[in-house]
Amino acid sequence: MSGNQQFTLVQRPVGMPDDTHLRLEETAMPEAGEGEVLLKTRYLSLDPYMRGRMNDTASYATPVALGEVMTGEAVSEVLESHHPDLSPGDLVIGRTGWQTHSMATPDSLYRIDPDIAPPSAWLGVIGMPGFTAYVGLREFGRPQPGETVVVSAASGAVGQVVGQIAKMKGCRVVGVAGAEDKCDYVKSEYGFDACVNYKDEDFEEQLQEACPDGIDVYFENVGGKVFEAVMTLVNDFARIPVCGRIAHYNQTRLPEGPDRLIPFMGQILIKRLMFRGFIQSDHNELLPEFRREMGQWLKEGKVKYREDVVEGFENTLNAFQGLLQGNNRGKLVVRVS
Ligand code: NAP
Repeated sequence: MSGNQQFTLVQRPVGMPDDTHLRLEETAMPEAGEGEVLLKTRYLSLDPYMRGRMNDTASYATPVALGEVMTGEAVSEVLESHHPDLSPGDLVIGRTGWQTHSMATPDSLYRIDPDIAPPSAWLGVIGMPGFTAYVGLREFGRPQPGETVVVSAASGAVGQVVGQIAKMKGCRVVGVAGAEDKCDYVKSEYGFDACVNYKDEDFEEQLQEACPDGIDVYFENVGGKVFEAVMTLVNDFARIPVCGRIAHYNQTRLPEGPDRLIPFMGQILIKRLMFRGFIQSDHNELLPEFRREMGQWLKEGKVKYREDVVEGFENTLNAFQGLLQGNNRGKLVVRVS
């Protein structure tokens, strides 16, 4: 067996990360000791939060230290087990990082059932992003039949699930995405009622047309100009689960322009808006219920999903850069082996 390949954070990026920040290295194969298992990565998940972990700033999670393997969740196969709970051939998910092999203890892993969904889906629709959509809508968006729900990054891992759950709740669902083909497939494959391309010049007018009764729930994934356009259309008592702000992840300074904080605070008061930032992992008590419910929706064909599978571990960094530029079509994963 050759060595373990891994991407190590060697310098903190300002703006877009590249190979001066993340270095591909080959190290010795990890060895599993008593109570541990040796894992071979099958699929590595690439997610926007990883950009934040490269910064040395205070956040809800500790940043990756310089010299450490880049953090990330993966589906792996157990190669060797020194623990009775897992056997060679078992498939597990765990936070094993950007590497081809790893070593872990079973308490940090979850054994997946490939009969419920294929291995890669456990990183997407029935994994962390799907759970994020489920938690954000159920706990904070609370959509009611007949209401209008808008979701940004609509064609992505989280957005595609948000829209489909909101449709099942009887809502009018409007997506916002950055390309025509993305807008087309969220309507044709996931049943969104409308989808607007935020890169179009008349985006604001199109969004208004797509939301004739205003907006009751805005599932915020991006921030920036999409957020500003939505804010002009929100109804009284609208709920805004704040899930992500990807438009700002590579930003190096605040945008130019007038300070909008005071009118924004005015809107919150006058319209009695509810903003709620949330992190999916604070709600892990809902995971068993989510997996059961999502497993059933997938089986019945009520939820569909699209994955963007990149071949080869060496293409991980390139694929991650693409994610931050909107190149992915659906949940981005790297097929490592
Ligand atoms: P994703 O949508 O699969 O991929 C990211 C997408 O973001 C890109 O495809 C692109 O789509 C969009 N994007 C990139 N740069 C942008 C920009 N400058 N302005 C507007 N959109 C941009 O990713 P995801 O995994 O579903 O994540 C979506 C959001 O949820 C992210 O903000 C992420 O951080 C957040 N999240 C939060 C939690 C939590 O617990 N709070 C958990 C998971 C994810 P377009 O072509 O449509 O622009």
